[in-house]
Amino acid sequence: MELPYVEPYKVKMVESIKRSTKKQREQWIKEADYNLFNLSSDKVFIDLLTDSGTGAMSDRQWSAMMSGDESYAGSKSFLQLKETVNKITGYTYFLPTHQGRAAENVLFSVLIKEGDLVPGNSHFDTTKGHIEFRKATAIDCTINEAFDTTILHPFKGNIDLDKLKNVFDSNPNDKIPFVILTITCNSSGGQPVSMANIKAVSKLCKSYNIPLIFDSARFAENAYFIKLREKAYQDRSIKEIAKEIFSYGDGMTMSAKKDGLVNMGGFIALKDEEIYKQATVYNIMYEGFITYGGMNGRDMAALAVGLDEATEFDYLESRIEQVAYLGRTLTEYNVPVLQPIGGHAVFIDANKFVPTIPRDEYRAQALAIELYIVGGIRGVEIGTVLEDRDPFTRKNRYPELELVRLAIPRRTYSLNHMKYLAAVLKNVFDSRNEAKTGYIIVDEAPIMRHFTVKFNKI
Ligand SMILES: *Cc1c(COP(=O)(O)O)cnc(C)c1O
Repeated sequence: MELPYVEPYKVKMVESIKRSTKKQREQWIKEADYNLFNLSSDKVFIDLLTDSGTGAMSDRQWSAMMSGDESYAGSKSFLQLKETVNKITGYTYFLPTHQGRAAENVLFSVLIKEGDLVPGNSHFDTTKGHIEFRKATAIDCTINEAFDTTILHPFKGNIDLDKLKNVFDSNPNDKIPFVILTITCNSSGGQPVSMANIKAVSKLCKSYNIPLIFDSARFAENAYFIKLREKAYQDRSIKEIAKEIFSYGDGMTMSAKKDGLVNMGGFIALKDEEIYKQATVYNIMYEGFITYGGMNGRDMAALAVGLDEATEFDYLESRIEQVAYLGRTLTEYNVPVLQPIGGHAVFIDANKFVPTIPRDEYRAQALAIELYIVGGIRGVEIGTVLEDRDPFTRKNRYPELELVRLAIPRRTYSLNHMKYLAAVLKNVFDSRNEAKTGYIIVDEAPIMRHFTVKFNKI
């Protein structure tokens, strides 16, 4: 008999999760104004809101925490982290920040001015927020295949080089401070970018003298996909692949809450000393002194170990294959999911799942609410609510995809949890024709509304 795949770890500490009834959940979600962000976690059975900062640390990371150095300046933990980042990315200059968006805030304060254009592949929401907050524009140059959920393209995070070249050719060079390449591309479904594409984008950027920055939250997962799907890299280690990726760019922002395998943290790493020097000023103003940037010494120590673990093949295989297992099972149940399955999450295609709910009634949000009520599962809408209003016309923007993202925390849930999730989704799918109406917004913030928006049931 063929032996099944087994996770390369065992459990040393457990955390109980609370069951609840459908009736309780109907009441709770109503009290939360139908916004899943408003639910306290004890009202959630399986929490797939995000894979950001929700994973489990290893025994090596916990022991690193005990030896964290809390010195204000020049702490040993800072130096350990700096050395690790340097080893993994090849970038010389390093600034810790309290999380990924803080890294964006600091770096973009140096690089972006009003009226600028920042091309990239489906910018993450905080990235776009930090661009638009500076009255600049994010231009999505992702390949068209990314917007068809059924096409089995191996690298749906790729940039369309013609689209990018067109942006370069039709705008003054000094209006484009940099290109941002998100690896893996969260907003298009956790889809990777190929090394060939990274190389080509880098070459194009160089020929126009425009820097290339990586939004690297899931760079290790991206490296795993390159190893699996790009022949030339099958015998290369994850660490070698990661280093090659970064060699084609000028710097990176990092949310360490993803592939840093920690609960909080982030950083900037750069090739250029001048940009680094300018960034230190903002880092000190917004984050903290340059050798802690809003992080505890112990957290920097745990991050140094986390980055090392996250760039090991065995860990990545267990992580990405768990997500793939959920995706495969849903596919067997005919539940419409974005294909191919991404690295950190399974994305349910709400346009196919509940086409009966009008788009202006937030069909993906309606589906996310239903999954909570039926199974106690907390996913998140990646659709019209998240896409927010156009900053100039204040009209709803309707993205091509309406998705519910089930993000899988790292090293946290078991295969049985995946089986439970798949069964809940099948049951909701089988009764999908009963859903006819969605929700209306009764209150929302002027920017990044999804966190606090309030809904009413129609
Ligand atoms: C999470 C994330 C960010 C922002 O990081 P935070 O740590 O949540 O502030 C930026 N870009 C991408 C691609 C992300 O996934």
